[in-house]
Amino acid sequence: MSIQVTEIGKIHTPYKQKFAIPRQPGLVPSALGKVVFNSDFSDPNYLRGIEEFSHLWLLFHFHQTAEKGHSPLVRPPRLGGNTKQGVFATRSTFRPNNIGMSVVELVDWQHKNKQLSLTVRGMDLLDGTPIIDIKPYIPYADKIDNAIGGFAHQAPKLMEVDFTYDAAKQLLNANVQSVNLTTLITEVLSQDPRPAYQSTENPDKQYGMTLYNFNIQWRVVENKNIVFSVEKIN
Ligand code: SAM
Repeated sequence: MSIQVTEIGKIHTPYKQKFAIPRQPGLVPSALGKVVFNSDFSDPNYLRGIEEFSHLWLLFHFHQTAEKGHSPLVRPPRLGGNTKQGVFATRSTFRPNNIGMSVVELVDWQHKNKQLSLTVRGMDLLDGTPIIDIKPYIPYADKIDNAIGGFAHQAPKLMEVDFTYDAAKQLLNANVQSVNLTTLITEVLSQDPRPAYQSTENPDKQYGMTLYNFNIQWRVVENKNIVFSVEKIN
């Protein structure tokens, strides 16, 4: 049986490429995102009562990896990238139907010029990801105190992040509305976004990511991320 789903909107996030997006929601709490509803779903009645909830489930389409298909076994980065695990025993993006689910904090919602949007915090989604459904998080049913989290039982260890004098100077003029870019970069890099196969330290290796319209460059020295450049992209 084939089932059709309809995109209800898209989410806009600081994450302009897949690399360095946190691997689960809630790990980068300063990241703000905005779900902008498509015109067919821009009726505020769709959201009536939503402010009674602090958190929401976003269901979405892993649109950037969808074309790559799936296989029964995947290699989770959390297991070092070599150990194979059944795709249904992981949260891999390479899965049948390419459906993702993330719990995010609800910040507020707006209805302006006939456009409905919802601001959320802490998502792990690429900018432009199609949203296919939204549901409230219900603590009594969704929070399970004694649940066992398999290979991902605990949040990953955090890495230290430092800024060179030059990067700190660039950050003084790097403004993003309602977001502290220094905090956002620190939270993202503390997750150690390096692919598992590159996590052997090489102090000459430079890494780069784009957050909003800033290109951020860093190196890993003595197990610490050293940000040396934060440049605005025009
Ligand atoms: N929390 C979700 C889940 O469990 O279904 C996503 C988990 S998945 C491991 C998170 C990763 O998906 C991010 O680190 C990013 O690399 C990737 N990702 C986010 N949005 C995506 C998109 N639209 N298409 C493809 N990959 C995406």
